[in-house]
Amino acid sequence: PNPKKSTQAAPNPYNPGTVRPPISAPAFLSYVSPDLPDREISLRPPRLVPLPVSGQAVAGAQDPMTQAESAAQAAVAISFSDLALCEPIQRAITETGYTVPTPIQAQAIPQVLAGGDLMAAAQTGTGKTAGFTLPILHILAATHVHPHPPGRPRCLILTPTRELAAQVEESVKTYGKHLPLTSLVMFGGVNINPQIGALKKRVDILVATPGRLLDHVGQRTLDLSGVEFLVLDEADRMLDMGFIRDIRKVLALLPKKRQNLLFSATFSDEIRQLTQGLLHDPATVEVAPRNTTAERVDQAVYMIGQKQKRELLAHLIKEKQWFQALVFTRTKHGANKLAEYLTKHGIESAAIHGNKSQAARTRALAQFKDGSLPVLVATDIAARGLDIDQLPQVVNFELPNVPEDYVHRIGRTGRAGAAGHAISLVDKEEANLLTAIERLIKRRIDRAVAENFVPSAGGE
Ligand code: AMP
Repeated sequence: PNPKKSTQAAPNPYNPGTVRPPISAPAFLSYVSPDLPDREISLRPPRLVPLPVSGQAVAGAQDPMTQAESAAQAAVAISFSDLALCEPIQRAITETGYTVPTPIQAQAIPQVLAGGDLMAAAQTGTGKTAGFTLPILHILAATHVHPHPPGRPRCLILTPTRELAAQVEESVKTYGKHLPLTSLVMFGGVNINPQIGALKKRVDILVATPGRLLDHVGQRTLDLSGVEFLVLDEADRMLDMGFIRDIRKVLALLPKKRQNLLFSATFSDEIRQLTQGLLHDPATVEVAPRNTTAERVDQAVYMIGQKQKRELLAHLIKEKQWFQALVFTRTKHGANKLAEYLTKHGIESAAIHGNKSQAARTRALAQFKDGSLPVLVATDIAARGLDIDQLPQVVNFELPNVPEDYVHRIGRTGRAGAAGHAISLVDKEEANLLTAIERLIKRRIDRAVAENFVPSAGGE
């Protein structure tokens, strides 16, 4: 049985016709300021984090306010119509169903409109994409000239993964649908020729992964000398993935005078190093520490030997009737093997990772989102940036090596009004990792016992 089909109202971000439930003002208030009395309002979106903390971000702030006060002010004072975005953009926002800007939007949009550089701590799920896309669209539309040379973008958005690039460009299209601006997405792993063809026309906004972008530069099919806006999205992940040299090469090709926006989940030393020389006197927008996300997720640990994990997982999926579970493995090979095992045991699943063709990844993701594929097995990097952050169930088949990744993984669970569920299958060898995670989230995770689970002798 697939209860998903009938019960799931979650929208598909790839399908512009459907949207996530808009956030009502009280719900907005409840997540920007969890201390206010109406905190129980259950509409609050699970992945939106409290954030108004920087004094400069609240326009007109005179005296230091408590966080609750400034949050309340931001919530009461700011609506999309206050953000001075042009009418075609406002119309697109209304059609999308958004009623109130998310905290990152309320803070970032005025900063970008004012023309300054921005350094923002925000992850997928906070509304960051609209946070940079809306003001950029506004400025580009206001200064739109026609005709414009082909293949010479005015805005360049760099992302670490193909999926994120595709998603961001989808957002650009959605928010800019009533504007005369054009966009293009380019990433590796697919034929370069259609991209070359597209660059023979006008391209205002280019969303790209660094490697393929440089291929185009090498083939002289792309002219970066007209870039007025540079956005580095998920900059920390780009550095993790070893893109620093590519990023520096791209920076060297851009005109000096431009507006730079950097989004990152964390501000590591490496990120700070990158921002020096890149950002000029940036405004900063910060989110609450990300381990706060963990508080609204039901978490449990099953202590189990590595060899028996897959059997236990198959048992849990069947017994608990999970219909949309994202399973994390540490390696690509492990992801493949697990997906094969589950499929062989009657649980439809697919693996998604960097070695898969783009077509296979896109297909698996679409099926997972529409409910026809109940289990998606992914590595951290592949899962990063996927807009699948309102899941009922996340499984850590292995614990991640970096405790912060645990928080990031489980932050994808939870639907509007409901707590998320995350389980971890933990072998004795991973005990140290578990301790590090519990230290980070400052709580002990419940140990669960799988009832009715009888492992076959020695596991499979
Ligand atoms: P992002 O963090 O940019 O990946 O956005 C996460 C999700 O939030 C996306 O599915 C957006 O469509 C949605 N979203 C963005 N801004 C708003 C808003 N102001 N109100 C409701 N939903 C939003």
